[in-house]
Amino acid sequence: MDINISENLKRIRYNVEEAKAKYRKSDDIVRIMAVTKTVPYERVNEAVREGITLLGENRVQEYLEKKDFYDKNAEINFIGHLQSNKIKYIINSVTMIHSVDSFKLAEEINRQAEKNGVCMDVLIEVNIGGEESKSGVSVDGLEELLYSASQLKSIRVRGLMTIPPVGRSEQSFEDMRGLFENMKAKRIDNIGMEILSMGMSSDYELAVKHGSNIVRIGSGLFGARK
Ligand SMILES: *Cc1c(COP(=O)(O)O)cnc(C)c1O
Repeated sequence: MDINISENLKRIRYNVEEAKAKYRKSDDIVRIMAVTKTVPYERVNEAVREGITLLGENRVQEYLEKKDFYDKNAEINFIGHLQSNKIKYIINSVTMIHSVDSFKLAEEINRQAEKNGVCMDVLIEVNIGGEESKSGVSVDGLEELLYSASQLKSIRVRGLMTIPPVGRSEQSFEDMRGLFENMKAKRIDNIGMEILSMGMSSDYELAVKHGSNIVRIGSGLFGARK
């Protein structure tokens, strides 16, 4: 199998631009994140040479093994399930954490950020389909989590992230946009609602249609994971 990262990225960019032109304001920004799980750092760097400026990491251990070899022209976000005891390994090298889904985790990130003299940007992960198997705060629990997170001085909430149920992407993206606009309108102190992280290889055009501004692409860019 011959995977051409350059061609794949060209196609993804084209599709993002097309969805933007159709459904979004002309000055909206949609960033393409390269999701790197299982991908060797050489391939990741190839994507960075093609202009990718944002990498998404799922697993702390794998990230720590690769991070020193990454091209420094891309910033790194953590997007996977994060255990409290691993925060200290990533706090100084990632620029945002997309997967905060409990006050306990938010507090622990806040504690580590304070200890390291940084303020960490985070997104709240929402379990939009109410699936047992998925992480993310429930739709009903979101507002309360935002209010409690707003008290933490060394994290800053910037928006929301989701992974929709299989086969229900479009409805879920629409629901997420509603939730996002709703929370934004509350103007909670110290809570920003600028970033909506949604859309993966199979559904990113729909996510752009419904307001995403970070699409997270793995297999569509690097080929199927083994
Ligand atoms: C793996 C992963 C992606 C990318 O998935 P693809 O279908 O390969 O594009 C996006 N977001 C998260 C949180 C992931 O774990």
